[in-house]
Amino acid sequence: LNNARVLKVELGARSYPIRIGKGLAANEAAFPEAQGRALRVITDSNVAPVYLAPLLAALHIGDDQVFVLPAGETQKTWDSAGQVLDWLLASRLSRDGCLIALGGGVVGDLAGFCAAIYQRGIDFIQVPTTLLAQVDSSVGGKTGVNHARGKNLIGAFHQPLSVIADTSSLSTLPRRELLAGLAEVIKYGMLADSLLFEWLEANLDRILALESNALAEIIERCCAIKARIVGLDERETGSGPRALLNLGHTFGHAIETHTGYTQWLHGEAVAAGLCLAADLSARHGWITEAVAARCITLIQRAGLPTQPPPGMTAADFRDLMGLDKKVQNGKLRLILMRGLGDAIISSDFDASLLDSVLHDAC
Ligand code: NAD
Ligand code: ZN
Repeated sequence: LNNARVLKVELGARSYPIRIGKGLAANEAAFPEAQGRALRVITDSNVAPVYLAPLLAALHIGDDQVFVLPAGETQKTWDSAGQVLDWLLASRLSRDGCLIALGGGVVGDLAGFCAAIYQRGIDFIQVPTTLLAQVDSSVGGKTGVNHARGKNLIGAFHQPLSVIADTSSLSTLPRRELLAGLAEVIKYGMLADSLLFEWLEANLDRILALESNALAEIIERCCAIKARIVGLDERETGSGPRALLNLGHTFGHAIETHTGYTQWLHGEAVAAGLCLAADLSARHGWITEAVAARCITLIQRAGLPTQPPPGMTAADFRDLMGLDKKVQNGKLRLILMRGLGDAIISSDFDASLLDSVLHDAC
């Protein structure tokens, strides 16, 4: 396989490859794990018209082996999973078959979940087509669906057989979705890799121009960080290192809940959350004002929000973060920074500094 970057996720005795490069989703050589297996493809209605035919050609399978979901987060449900499972049974896929998830995080989470429970678990391959899926959701083995009571409440850990990230698929991604994925990329730099952060400062324009080498570079570096952290903490034990991946997310989730999950994309909410986390870290003196300013500037240059949505108040944050309850019991843990590329899980932050951050931002 020429011009692919290959990484490994090491999980004790097991490991799986992540292959990154231009055109991989249309290249048979990117799928050695699929050779000679019964295959089924799950994708969505936005991705299918563009990327399905080349993938089917590469895998030598017909379009009768494909389940196309309507696109969107609202499809990530128990009901959709049931439909996929019904279809897998009707098509008589045996236990040694393999599912292929072609799409963004919604398809990956749903198909992965179906693979986790179909006949007590079968293999699956992730072919992520959004930046968010390529740097985050396709790696690490978290699969699942949403419930009316909340996101990702039903699911399973189920690691893929391989992850194939084709940089050329990002050319059709709506701009907002691309930038939302970029928020997670900036997050990785802030939490674990100052060199990645500096690389982004120097090369952001190449990313925004979708230069494939630049895209492959960030996907590789982000996957390397995620692979390392997942290797240390496969199942996210409460205060294990996997929690560090949630830098900016406690604030971001509050914003998503406040805005009803309809106005802001996840990555946009995370972007504003990263700015709040950097600000709070600086007010503790754990990072310099200058480092916080660099984080905020990069997020702004990426066309992402640096402030909470208009109208959201400090009280809204306190409420949605369960602050009053949790701080009393000393339980709220935030991911904060103690250096560029160096995040920590902290429950001993100063609540009055948090208040001042929220008051100044809102
Ligand atoms: P998504 O799958 O909904 O994709 C976003 C939109 O882009 C959709 O409309 C999709 O049809 C479209 N699309 C996908 N690829 C495209 C392409 N190449 N060209 C044009 N359009 C394309 O959303 P997402 O942002 O990829 O993923 C979000 C989901 O990921 C959420 O459900 C979230 O919970 C989950 N997630 C999971 C993990 C994990 O560890 N499993 C981590 C982070 C997020
Ligand atoms: Zn996220």
